This record gives sequence, structure tokens and C-alpha cells, in this order.
Amino acid sequence: MTEMLTANTDTIEMAAKLLKNGEVVAFPTETVYGLGGVITTPSAIDKIFEAKGRPRDNPLIVHVSAKDQVVPLIKEFPKYAEVLMDKFWPGPLTLVMPASDLVLDCITAGLESVAIRMPDNSVALDLISATGVPVAAPSANRSGFPSPTKAGHVLEDMKGRIPLIIDGGATGFGLESTVLDLTEEVPTVLRPGAITLEMLWDAGVHAVLDSGLKPGETPKSPGLKYRHYAPNADVVIVMDKYELAKKLELCDNKEVGILAQSDWKPTNSSGLFYPLSTSGSVEESAALLFDGLRVLDGGGAKVIFVQGFEDNGLGMAYMNRLKKAAYKGEGKI
Ligand code: AMP
Ligand code: MG
Repeated sequence: MTEMLTANTDTIEMAAKLLKNGEVVAFPTETVYGLGGVITTPSAIDKIFEAKGRPRDNPLIVHVSAKDQVVPLIKEFPKYAEVLMDKFWPGPLTLVMPASDLVLDCITAGLESVAIRMPDNSVALDLISATGVPVAAPSANRSGFPSPTKAGHVLEDMKGRIPLIIDGGATGFGLESTVLDLTEEVPTVLRPGAITLEMLWDAGVHAVLDSGLKPGETPKSPGLKYRHYAPNADVVIVMDKYELAKKLELCDNKEVGILAQSDWKPTNSSGLFYPLSTSGSVEESAALLFDGLRVLDGGGAKVIFVQGFEDNGLGMAYMNRLKKAAYKGEGKI
């Protein structure tokens, strides 16, 4: 049975007890809901992979509640690590660093590096400190589907699979953390997120965006090769109101859903409409994207048209998720 309880000190205490006993628990963060297990218990890590149906070669992010918890997990602080931790933690920045022998292979998927972050959410931080051990936590959705930004989304995907969901309301950013690889000479963004390239440059770290794989190369961030964030419906990206109107004309008999700013709502369409923002804000749209995909999917839409944004700033993270949701190939991306 899966319990969903409002976040308070009793719930956090109960969750910490479950974690210490090697169970898994879903909890809110400032990005999306996470499904956590203590990093010291291999069977807890197994339960995360099983509950999500996550491929074993996709490593997990370790979540800490204090900077001193990082030291035993890494061989050394790579260049920039401490500057970035001071500037952006707690916050949506995951740092990939050389892993110490203490980190279990099932967490890193056998890589020599480990991804670590400190979430900026008091429920998550209190839970990790009450547990007394860092918690490995991927997003709390079934693998491949949109990430959960509300406790109810976790329940949809995890009912009967995990004992407890802590309901801390809707998450803030609504997109997963930026993943920054510090193990190479040049810091490289493996997954764009709320900490943008511009913000990293402003902090004096001239990071570059991972340019993708060349033929025969092994992915730096194994999770990025899988189909992701996708609802059951087909997802089509539209960049403006006129493109939307044109594409709508071509699918008269299909159940259509539209996910866009309020004033894109067509007057003559009977399709489902979910407003992403009032005036085209990428921040608002990012926070609602995954909820919108789930709601329109649940409403029976067979095609979902989604507003696109320019590929910079937070738009880069938004478009990264949206392009993956729209990808039509099977299995790998
Ligand atoms: P999720 O936890 O579902 O948000 O996904 C975590 C992301 O971090 C995935 O894309 C992983 O591939 C990536 N990741 C985790 N650990 C590492 C690592 N050691 N090196 C590179 N990428 C990692
Ligand atoms: Mg995920």
C-alpha cells in the first residue's frame, strides 16, 4: 500500500525511519519529486530502479543536506566545485565529480564519477538530515514518462510500488536540475536546467554545453540516451499562434490537446486547452509543462501541441525536455 501524507515533522520522521530501514520514499524538491533510498544500502537502491523501471546503466544523483557530506563521496574537489557549491547550493545544480570507493557501483552504474546535489527544499533537507545519510534519488516517475511536479503525479505512477509519498505541494522550477560535469578540463553541461549557462559564466565558470555524441562514443550521462518525459499522446512543438492554427487545421478528427500561453487558445477548436502561462513566460511554462502533459494525456488527447521557446536561458532546459517528449523513435534518443 502507498500512503500519501502532508509534509510535517511527523511525516518526515516516519519517512526517515523508512529510509533507515532500507525502504524508498518519494519527497518534494525544488525541481521535481524525487524517489529516495539511502546510499549505504544496495537493496534500497535496487528498489528505486525496480519501482521506476529504470535501466540499470542510468546512474542516480546523490542528494546531501550539508556540504561536509560530500567529502567522503569524492576522491577530491575538482576545480570550480567549491565555488559552485558556495554559489548555487542549495539549488538545482548537480555536480559530477570523481567518486570515492565508498560510493556503490549500483549508484554510479559503474562509472568512476558520482553526481551530487543539495536540494533547495526544506522538506527534502530535513528528511536527509533526519536520516543522517545522503539519499540517492532520481525523479519519482515511471521511467520514460513526464517527471512528477505534484504528489498526485507520483501516486499515478508509483501506487502500490512504494510505501510513502510526502506531499509538499507543487514543486517550484518544475524541470530537473542542471547536470554539470567537472571531471574534464572544461566544465560541461550534460543536462540543461534552471542554473543556466549564463549563470555559470557569471560565476566565473566558462562551462560549455555537451555537444552530443559522435559515432561510437559512450555517453557521458547515460540517462540522456533514453526516451524521456513522454506522455502517451504524440507531442508536436509549435513556435507561434499561426503555426498552431495551421497544424490544427490538418487534424480535424483527432482528439487534440493544446499546451500554450492563454491567448493562444483557439476560439474555434473543441480540443482540450491547458494554459501554460498568462503572457508567454518561460518560467511559468517550465513549472507547468509536465503537469500539462499529464493532464491532457489523462483527458484523452491523442496529439498534444505544445508552445516552444527560444533555445537559451531557461528556454534551453525547457526545449531539451520538450524535444525529448516529442521524439517519436522507439527506446533510444
Ligand atoms: P534523474 O535522476 O532521473 O533526474 O536523472 C539523473 C541524470 O543525471 C541522468 O541523466 C544521469 O545520466 C545523470 N548522471 C547521474 N550520475 C552521473 C554521472 N556520474 N556522470 C554523468 N551523468 C550522471
Ligand atoms: Mg528522471
